[in-house]
Amino acid sequence: MKAVGLHPDVVVVTSRFWQTTCTLVRSGEEAFCIDSPVLPDELEILPSIAEQARFRVVGLLLTHADFDHVLGRYAFPDAPLGVPESTAARLRNEPGAAQRELRAFDDEHYVERPGPLSLGRPETTQALPVPGHCGIGERELELHPADGHTEDGMAVWIPWARVLVCGDYLSPVEIPWISEHGSATAYLATLRRLAPLVEQADHVVPGHGAVLDGTRAAAILGEDVAYLEALLERGADAPLPLARRSGAQRRIHAENVGRVAAAV
Ligand SMILES: [Zn+2]
Repeated sequence: MKAVGLHPDVVVVTSRFWQTTCTLVRSGEEAFCIDSPVLPDELEILPSIAEQARFRVVGLLLTHADFDHVLGRYAFPDAPLGVPESTAARLRNEPGAAQRELRAFDDEHYVERPGPLSLGRPETTQALPVPGHCGIGERELELHPADGHTEDGMAVWIPWARVLVCGDYLSPVEIPWISEHGSATAYLATLRRLAPLVEQADHVVPGHGAVLDGTRAAAILGEDVAYLEALLERGADAPLPLARRSGAQRRIHAENVGRVAAAV
């Protein structure tokens, strides 16, 4: 697992699996852990990484409810969980879904965990109004809606560090992925909403893949808008972004084609 400091108050760790990112953000005596790495040893070492950097983690935030992002409680079992209202609704509507998907993943890859995934009791989960703000130490994080990949989601803007943590958007390794309850038009709207933040960003942390500088993130945003517009117009014939045309990306594209056709 890789850990990179983007700012004295922002550290990003990247999982060896799917390059899933987890962002630690601090203000004064309080730090939050946004999303999570995937593998058990990475989750085990995360508290010491935070401690060494003097980040006192007092809460977890989720960009969305996909199982690969929600494992922070393995690292910080007592931390309260903050989620966008859309994610709170998804967790209510699909109880146990993340746990089932995690079990299937662990079965397939022979991964052993110290115990079942706990997303905690409802009273330790706070539904955050999005768009909105979330206090941390003496400062505030900005929360922006980010749906389309899934039906839920938020992007977190860290104003004093000029870092955008955007969840499963703007990935240098993955094309836009319209999952089961996602929507290509909502995805496009999210990209347009994120554009002004990307423009001000020193760093953009995608849900999967390396941290981007603002210029690179803006280029990916342009490619992703072009891909989605072509997907809506031409379906299967839409060209994939040049650097993201592997077999795995073509499979995601085929899935997207089916979703867009089903949505019409
Ligand atoms: Zn993901």
